[in-house]
Amino acid sequence: MSDELRSLYQEMIVDHGRHPRNFKTLDNATHTLEGFNPLCGDQLKLFLVVENAIVKDVAFTGQGCAISMASASIMSQMIKDKTVEQAQTLFENFHRLVTQGDLSELQQDSLGKLQALAGVKAFPSRIKCATLAWHTLSKSLAGKRDPVSTE
Ligand code: ZN
Repeated sequence: MSDELRSLYQEMIVDHGRHPRNFKTLDNATHTLEGFNPLCGDQLKLFLVVENAIVKDVAFTGQGCAISMASASIMSQMIKDKTVEQAQTLFENFHRLVTQGDLSELQQDSLGKLQALAGVKAFPSRIKCATLAWHTLSKSLAGKRDPVSTE
């Protein structure tokens, strides 16, 4: 990765971490689920409006490190108007990006801004920060209601 791209990605993470998008509750949520990452102290509550297997709206509240907030913020932008199946595929590809990193070019491109978080792969303790929102999303879409812990 070029230095230029790396610093662009860092800026994006800092920006989303400081000013998370869709940071609010949703009164009309069809799915709500809390997620915790005890290792770092990250916590979030995810709100989804799912209609006809399409994620119509997404929001979250909570607190945590810049990586966890940025990941949740970028996720909230990316999964809106996606089908439940597309959202799960995105989770699988993102999880693979930060754990194994062996994605095809097509899979990598599908991740868009999420590629900014690829760097956590080198820091195993931060992987859970980056994936907390996604684990919570995946479990929520699967119908789980009990809080999710990354441990
Ligand atoms: Zn964290």
